[in-house]
Amino acid sequence: MTRIVVLAAGVLAALAVTAAPAVSAGHSAASAECTGWEADGAGAFDSVAALTAAASTARGGAGEGPKEPTLNETYEALPDSAKGKGGPNFKATVPTWIHVISPDGKTANVSQAVIDEQMSVLNLASAGFYGGAKTGFKFTLEGVTRSTNASWYNAGAGSFAEREMKSTLHEGGWETLNVYTNLAGGYLGYAYLPGLPESRQYIDGVVLNWQSMPGASSRYVGRYDLGHTLTHEVGHWIDLEHTFFGGCNAKGDFVDDTPAMLVPTNGCPVGKDTCEKKPGLDPIHNYMDYSYDSCYNQFTPGQAARGQDAWIYFRDS
Ligand SMILES: [Zn+2]
Repeated sequence: MTRIVVLAAGVLAALAVTAAPAVSAGHSAASAECTGWEADGAGAFDSVAALTAAASTARGGAGEGPKEPTLNETYEALPDSAKGKGGPNFKATVPTWIHVISPDGKTANVSQAVIDEQMSVLNLASAGFYGGAKTGFKFTLEGVTRSTNASWYNAGAGSFAEREMKSTLHEGGWETLNVYTNLAGGYLGYAYLPGLPESRQYIDGVVLNWQSMPGASSRYVGRYDLGHTLTHEVGHWIDLEHTFFGGCNAKGDFVDDTPAMLVPTNGCPVGKDTCEKKPGLDPIHNYMDYSYDSCYNQFTPGQAARGQDAWIYFRDS
């Protein structure tokens, strides 16, 4: 497969990778980040439809700051010629590694039962069990590694510690999902979109705040404790953008069946409609919004199709 690295002469070199944040910071910080992300993205994407690429995204804790950090990365686009390759018969089995990072050997050393439950939630969401589309992706746990390393535990997105952790632990190729559980740099999690250069393959994967895993902690009870932070981050990993990406812009998140929305959702405000001139209410139940876990119940058929196309183009070996 030919990879076209878009170096965006004059267009945009750096695409942000967004993530969902969790921990620190204040609500205003979150809003500011989202606003900036949209402002940067919208115009650029208008002119470079496909440069979607990019992003790694994350969720964080509403009222506590952004869910995800913004990652500055250059990505390649999903070209038009790669679209429409998936379909109802699409099936992909994704070998998955969970890398558990603890600062002291005890804290955050999540049990196998928690990991199994997290995998179950991911697979049920992917299969449409909670609602929405059946995506055709199945995630099988290949292995679990456990590391005690305080700097990896506290690693920020893009930090030396993140690179060191990943270059040490990363398994497999583009088709393998690597999930690192730590504090996610103070966010709920973040992930890289497909399209990283070969030389940076080790960066690929999801960084997940262990406190968002089902049954792991009381930190996010009632908000982000059902395991759908991973569902969201894996959405990015298969090339899905936020439903609020591009704001009310027509291209939005590059998926036709997710109604346009201006800003991320906090909680589960039924009836929210931030693009009143566009059809449909805000898709607050979509895994690629920033709603509470209990509010989420779907990927759309359009998102499933995009993820399938991106899998075939970027990841399928
Ligand atoms: Zn995200």
